[in-house]
Amino acid sequence: MSHIIGIDLGTTNSLCGVFLGDKPRLIPNALGKMLTPSVVAVLEDGQILVGEAARELRVTQPDRCASTFKRLMGSDARVEMAGRAFTAPELSSMVLKSLKADAEKFLAEEVTDAVITVPAYFNDNQRKATKVAGELAGLKVRRIINEPTAAALTYGFHDRNAEKKLIVVDLGGGTFDVTLMEVFEGTLEIVSTSGESFLGGEDFTNRLVSVILKQLGMQLELAELQEPLRVARLRQQCEDAKRRLSEQTDVEVKVPEKDGTLPEKARTVKINRETFAAAVKPLLDRIAGPIGKALRDGRSEAQEVDDVILVGGATRMLPLVDFVRDYFGREPEATFNPDEVVCLGAAVQAALIADNRAVDDMVMTDVCPFTLGVNTAKEMGGQVKTGYFVPIIHRNTTIPVSKEHVFSTMVPNQQEVLVDVYQGENRKVENNLKIGELRVTGVPPGPAGQEIYIRFTYDLNGILEVEAYVAKSEKKFRAVLTQHAADLTDAELEAAVANLQTLKYYPREDQANQKLLRFAERMVGEVSPYQREQFEDAIDMFEQAMGTGDRETVENARSTLEQILAMLGIDPDQASGGASFE
Ligand code: AMP
Repeated sequence: MSHIIGIDLGTTNSLCGVFLGDKPRLIPNALGKMLTPSVVAVLEDGQILVGEAARELRVTQPDRCASTFKRLMGSDARVEMAGRAFTAPELSSMVLKSLKADAEKFLAEEVTDAVITVPAYFNDNQRKATKVAGELAGLKVRRIINEPTAAALTYGFHDRNAEKKLIVVDLGGGTFDVTLMEVFEGTLEIVSTSGESFLGGEDFTNRLVSVILKQLGMQLELAELQEPLRVARLRQQCEDAKRRLSEQTDVEVKVPEKDGTLPEKARTVKINRETFAAAVKPLLDRIAGPIGKALRDGRSEAQEVDDVILVGGATRMLPLVDFVRDYFGREPEATFNPDEVVCLGAAVQAALIADNRAVDDMVMTDVCPFTLGVNTAKEMGGQVKTGYFVPIIHRNTTIPVSKEHVFSTMVPNQQEVLVDVYQGENRKVENNLKIGELRVTGVPPGPAGQEIYIRFTYDLNGILEVEAYVAKSEKKFRAVLTQHAADLTDAELEAAVANLQTLKYYPREDQANQKLLRFAERMVGEVSPYQREQFEDAIDMFEQAMGTGDRETVENARSTLEQILAMLGIDPDQASGGASFE
């Protein structure tokens, strides 16, 4: 059987891995890099470009590019790209297709099956959308797993003979997850998971922006409205400063003008580690909430945790490291690169699914990260009040799980019941997230109080099936949680695949050239006017050469362009990516 690949489909970057021999490893992309930016573009000739080259193009031709579409998964939103509208699963499928091609090249075999990771807080629609994305890319999605679970799996796999408690603290760009896990005799048991879906590295950057604006006598919310260009550029400066503060004790931040420009003699503000730590203190207090909840749900104390594992780019921030050290009273672990650990765990999960002998002594169990239930009415003091959330599957129940709850009709001869399905922790449904509904019709006439059984089945992928059963009529209803674009029928899926097949992908082997071309184009505005003509001539020549398809011509033009870049003191490897271009 061919290998099952593990994919970390990230908001900013995506990675692909596979279990080879006796351990998980990462698969390089066409440029030899492990991280593929989750950016796609449509070129002038209609070809699809994915990754670094697309990210370069985003700077000069943003209307041809799409990024951060992971945030739109599970919604009906469409993204315009070169005049065509795409759904988030379609755009994600382009990234997945590119990773699949990298894996096929690396393994020298066709790849058909994959495990894909999602944030733990991803709801039903978002998980289904991820599955659809895989299918659109020609991949059978064997399992959707939670990102912190995957990270825990990497550590658990390497430490499986130990008997310990691990906690994974995962702070990404926009989200925070914490997962408590126990390892004993090869069994990796996820005990509890918690998080906040709107708390991440970006908020720390924003605190810095706020502090600097305050020093200038401005308030962030107001400045954002009145001087959006200044704030946008200052945010870029602060993102960069925040990263530098992970290495340096103090940094200088240049304050842009109102129009967003940064003159040579721009005013600067000095920020040291102490100022940064004080500024982000309220955010660290918020981090404590989900950590406490995960520990309480797992009936554990902070001191009982043996290893604290940091995952996600934002855990490189020193105030966060200090906070975690204080909270648990031990030095956090970062044996694995926080950018890679999720993907490696997906590859371990793939090996478990494939019954790989190297992991046959391992068993892994996961939990449902949130409570799932329905909207009901309650009778209180003779009055019927609606909008109450009744849990059916409680958070941190080990999955797969199937649970039933009996409800009854409220009024005589009630023929119809609408089962509204919610996810969340609040006792009122209005504060939870509606994920779908099920209409139960044909309830036989009779007095109020007829029994209706509602069954929730939550599978290993975190996908929910809802069934209703009317006791008297013996009629069964299955939920079709069809509120969103992700719920495609087989025929619709086939049509979507056929539609995407009309797209042509830029050849994998030429991606390095495409990246260099787009990078050079971006640099045109940066070189001095008297060097510009020569530079542009070299770019034109390179572009023309790429059009000929003749290897030697391309190589010659490429080396000329590289020489000119070197002469101008521009290093293509240095400049691509970086915070300031995100
Ligand atoms: P992720 O979603 O895991 O890629 O996390 C991205 C977040 O990590 C962003 O908010 C970045 O600002 C942050 N980040 C990445 N590298 C660093 C660093 N060296 N120091 C501080 N924050 C970082």
